[in-house]
Amino acid sequence: MTNPPGPANPGSRPSLRLIEQRSWKIKGELEPGPCNFCGSDRLIFYREENSFRIERCRDCGLIQVNPRPRSEELSGFYAQYFPENSAEEWLRVYRDQYQEDAELIERGCRGCGKKIFEVGAGYGFFLAEMTRRGWEAEGVDLSRPAVEYARERLGIEIQLGDFPATAVPEGKYDALAGSFVLEHIRDPAGMLKMMREMLNPGGILILRLPNHSLLKIYGWLGTAAELLPVGFLLRRIRAGTDPETVFNVLDPPAHLYGFTPGVLKEYLEKIGFVRVRVFNGRMHRRGTRINWLFDGLVYYMVEIIYLLSAGKVALAPALRVRAFKGG
Ligand SMILES: [Zn+2]
Repeated sequence: MTNPPGPANPGSRPSLRLIEQRSWKIKGELEPGPCNFCGSDRLIFYREENSFRIERCRDCGLIQVNPRPRSEELSGFYAQYFPENSAEEWLRVYRDQYQEDAELIERGCRGCGKKIFEVGAGYGFFLAEMTRRGWEAEGVDLSRPAVEYARERLGIEIQLGDFPATAVPEGKYDALAGSFVLEHIRDPAGMLKMMREMLNPGGILILRLPNHSLLKIYGWLGTAAELLPVGFLLRRIRAGTDPETVFNVLDPPAHLYGFTPGVLKEYLEKIGFVRVRVFNGRMHRRGTRINWLFDGLVYYMVEIIYLLSAGKVALAPALRVRAFKGG
């Protein structure tokens, strides 16, 4: 799958290929830059994937594609990220996560106001859930079909535009949410700082993102597979996937950054968030029932490790983050 999702066939079952969509051809020039989190230029080679150079910051540990695609090129891709008829499938896959996130916010935000803003709000399902719980909900997304779906079908107002370029009021919200956005965008540091600005003191931030701790291990497996005959077997297990990309850990240009719980927590605290907690995230519902059972098994195993380490080791493929804006 190397092309952006085009218009889906009318009448066909909406597929989740957009969720799996990972690579497309970059046309413009790439721009080099310092570390996005700490500004350091002490970036060292980490690995190469899809002809992109991936580097690791020696000062803060952030994994990042460098040089990076330009903002306009990324915005162009995400403007067509949501095909028009995939909304119901999207809801089926992510419904459990919307519930979990809503509960996390309501538990953390007792006694606060009820105004939420979501970055990358997509079709608006999560905001619709918050509205059902009595919250006033707003958001932003780059996809016109998604924004129109939210307005027409769910009655949720989502601004069409880029973030943080789209003007949003400061100090106005009690909760800010961003689900699987941070790893896709050019400037995650800018996004997190803007989210902090938009929060009232004591307001809650929640995020979901891939966990690079686990992906790193997966990458090592790929390297071992190159060297050992077992590589043949591993590639058979993942049959149907492009053999060149089967062991990619970031898959640029769709993912430009790799975060571990420690690196992210340190950065959030540096920019003024307090009581930062990183949890294991559940996998979203995809594939067959066997996949779902396997994912469930993995989740309970990593949860046991999480509990035994008193919340210090989160190894799930995806993370949930909760933090509060310091006073
Ligand atoms: Zn850094």
